[in-house]
Order: sequence, then structure tokens, then C-alpha cells
Amino acid sequence: MTHATIIGAGAVGVSAAHHLAERGIEVTLVDKGHAAGETTGKAGGLVFCQLHEPADVRAMGYSIDFFRDLSAAENHFTYHEVGFLRTGTEREHSAFEREVSMQQNEGANVRLVDPPEISEIYPTLSLDGVTVGTYAPGDGYADPHTFTTTLLDEARAKGVTYRPGTKVTDIDVSDTPTVETEAGPIQTDTVVIAAGPWSRRVAALTGVDLPVKPYRAQALVTTPVAFDIGTVYDAHEGVYFRSEQRGGLLVGDGTEEVESDPDGYTQTADFDFLVETSDVVERCLPVDDVGIQNAWAGLCTATPDGRPLVGRPVYEPGSDGGPDDVVVAAGLQGHGFMRSPAVGHAVADIVCDGESEYPEWRPDRFDEHPGDFDIEEMLKLDGKHPGLQ
Ligand SMILES: Cc1cc2nc3c(=O)[nH]c(=O)nc-3n(C[C@H](O)[C@H](O)[C@H](O)COP(=O)(O)OP(=O)(O)OC[C@H]3O[C@@H](n4cnc5c(N)ncnc54)[C@H](O)[C@@H]3O)c2cc1C
Repeated sequence: MTHATIIGAGAVGVSAAHHLAERGIEVTLVDKGHAAGETTGKAGGLVFCQLHEPADVRAMGYSIDFFRDLSAAENHFTYHEVGFLRTGTEREHSAFEREVSMQQNEGANVRLVDPPEISEIYPTLSLDGVTVGTYAPGDGYADPHTFTTTLLDEARAKGVTYRPGTKVTDIDVSDTPTVETEAGPIQTDTVVIAAGPWSRRVAALTGVDLPVKPYRAQALVTTPVAFDIGTVYDAHEGVYFRSEQRGGLLVGDGTEEVESDPDGYTQTADFDFLVETSDVVERCLPVDDVGIQNAWAGLCTATPDGRPLVGRPVYEPGSDGGPDDVVVAAGLQGHGFMRSPAVGHAVADIVCDGESEYPEWRPDRFDEHPGDFDIEEMLKLDGKHPGLQ
């Protein structure tokens, strides 16, 4: 039986383990810490099909179905299908129109909405300055930690060996692939690198320079408020918020488009982020003085073009690396939790069939190594729509 060793038990690695086990692959899943202990555990849990690229919209079709199915099964996981609204002004109008048309072509249940319809769906939302929105009723949110641990339980029931507290220190792909860990070597057939913000460092152990850069993103939870609201992304301000299960609001974005060191970044939220996002909440919702219960920063991982890197990595000429033995699943920007079902599915297709249904995500899509590149957050519309100022 073919054996795969997956490095990283975040949402992506666990989904890959689950999908590979379903295809009959023997899997060992290792993590230096524990499942969902890093980026995944810090995610806001937003799940939405309203992305800028057709491949991502298709991926979200698969992922949302996956979340629904897992939620319907008997376990602790719930997918909250509360809808997702993007609001905009005249500035965003034509970009919204173009995106909704593309998303509908890809099968997404999304539509343009005008202010009266927005008020009907979101009666507590102030529409000062809002002239247009896009709305997908099947979007929603889920708890990333519960998702990952629930799926891990399922994967283990299918035979996946999970080894937390097992740091990978070296990878030898010159002959029979061997993953060296602090707890001893693991001989394997395929190495899957799903190490989130550490992916460049882990990939370097195989001799490949992976074009990914970690960057900070921030979120906060307010003290309880007197109303519930589905997810809203204010495309003009670049801030999202939604009701939490425990009565507060989860508010986020606060991305810092600067490379961060995964072993030494500031994990607390910036004061400016707290002030600026609180202002947006007070402007948009009936909240006079935002109380903050919790706030934090974690790391997302950028690629040169904002698309994930899922597939066999490109090796520098002369390296010992054997591309057939290594698959990466990294560079998921700020959307790695919600795309993790589709990414895990893609990893299983690559290991079993040699390719996935997302050629757009292949690591060899660049003509040459992209070298240094600018980090760009992928939720905002700027940069994706020429002319949007
Ligand atoms: C504030 C914030 C809000 C976010 N909100 C959302 C959201 O609403 N929706 C969404 O889809 N995404 C969101 N994201 C992004 C999302 O969290 C990530 O894209 C996703 O969690 C990436 O998952 P991962 O499995 O690739 O990485 P991780 O969860 O970081 O997992 C990687 C794992 O690899 C392990 N590892 C690393 N090096 C080694 C080694 N040498 N040996 C063994 N193990 C190793 C780590 O311990 C870690 O557990 C948010 C991110 C942040 C920071």
C-alpha cells in the first residue's frame, strides 16, 4: 500500500489526511504541536463562495458541500449557514457586477442586492453610504478548531496515524523518501508539506525554494451585543464582522502586508487595529461603545499571484529533489480554512492520479522562480479590478 507522510495538522493537512485515507492511502500525519494549534486555531471561520477567481469559486462549491455533510453527521461540528453579505459603494458597483456574473457561471448561489433588500435581510445594519451589495445565503461560518479535530477523528477512524509533538527536522528525497523527526525517521512514498506559515522552511529541507511568505492578520471578539447578524464584509473599509455563538461579534481583517517570521511574530493585536475596526462596527451597527473581549494576530501565507500552491513543487536545477515524491499544499492566503476541504481533495487527486482539477494552483505555473514579491491580501477588491481606486 502506498504511504504518505503529511507534515502539518492544520485544517489543510488534516483534510489531506482524510481525503488520502478515503482513497486507500496509508497516512502518517505529524505536527510539531497539535491539530489546529497554529494558524487554523486563529482563523475567523468565515466560509464564502464570493471569491475573485473561477477556480476558487468551484473549490468553495466543493468545500461548502463538505462542511454541510460533516455538519449533518453525528459529531460536534456545526456549519452555521447564516449567509454572507458584501457591501459597497458606487466605487465597488461594477466590480461586484462582474464578480457575481462569474460566480453564478461557476454555479454559486449569489446575487446582487440593493439597499432595500439588504435592510430586509440585515435589519440592524446601517446602510450609510452603501449603494450595492452581493449576497450568498449558503455562505456562513464554522469553528476551525472543531472542524479540524472532528475531521481528524474521522481520519483516524479510517486508519490515519496521528503523531502530535513530532517536529520534522529533515527530509531526504534522494532515494526512498525519509522524513526525519525529533522522534525518529519515517520512511514513506510521498511527503505532503502542509506546514502553513512554515511551509517555505519545511520545503527547503527537500531542496526547493517555495515562493510563499507569512504575513499577519488580526481579529477580535467584542463583549456580547443585543442582536444577531450574519457575516458582513464591508468591501469599502476592508473589515468583516459576524455574530459569535457566545453573543459577541467577531471582527476581523487587520492584515499587515509585510513578511513575518513564523517563529517570532507579534501574536497580540495592534492598538490601531482595535481602534479602526471598533470605529467601523460603531458606524455600521447599533453598538455605542465597543467592548473588546479578546483580540489576536496570526499568520496567513501569501504567494506571488495570490493563488494557492497545491501540487509538486519546482526544484532548482541540480538539486537532489525528486518532484514525484513531494506534494505541497500551502500559500492559502487568508482563505485556507474554508478552502481546506477542496485542497485536501486536490492533494489526494495529485497523489493518486498525478493531477487535480485545479491546474491554476500548480506550483510550476511560474515561468521562472518569482523571487521576491509583494504580499497582497486577497479579500479586498483592489488590485483584482483595474480602475478601482
Ligand atoms: C486572524 C486570522 C483570521 C483568519 N480567518 C479566516 C477565515 O475566516 N476563513 C478562512 O478560510 N481562513 C482564515 N484565515 C486563514 C487560515 O487560518 C489559514 O489559511 C489556514 O488555517 C491555514 O491552514 P494550514 O493547515 O495550512 O496551516 P496551519 O493551521 O498553520 O497548520 C500548519 C501546521 O504545520 C505544523 N508544522 C510547521 N512546521 C512543522 C514541522 N517542522 N514539523 C511538524 N509540524 C510542523 C504547525 O505546527 C501547524 O500546526 C485566518 C487567519 C488569521 C490569522
